[in-house]
Amino acid sequence: MKKSQIFDQVMDMKKQIGELYEQLGELQGNLGDLLEENNRLKVENHHLRNHLQLVQDEEDASEDQAQTNQSPKKGNPPGEGYDNLARIYEEGFHICNLQFGSPRRDEDCIFCLELLTKKNGS
Ligand SMILES: [Zn+2]
Repeated sequence: MKKSQIFDQVMDMKKQIGELYEQLGELQGNLGDLLEENNRLKVENHHLRNHLQLVQDEEDASEDQAQTNQSPKKGNPPGEGYDNLARIYEEGFHICNLQFGSPRRDEDCIFCLELLTKKNGS
């Protein structure tokens, strides 16, 4: 192999490494975005879990008081689930299908409200 060929190969590799390095930088950026998003979702999820647990605990407490004999079925009687949703909405979270669980930031959401009024009416 001639020296010039080796030199060419080295230049090629250098170029490839440069490109790979660029791609690596892009991936790193994407990864950063994903991690940020993941973190945000984690916090939100944590928040929601706490909230649901709170609601569930209150529900269990009132159920224990009201009745001890009934078979332990998981489903809520109609109306109770709605109360929970209404409460979650009041606490500032979406209950609509579009954005369920995400914070409302004190803004009313017509989809949530529609859901509430629909269930309320029937
Ligand atoms: Zn909503």
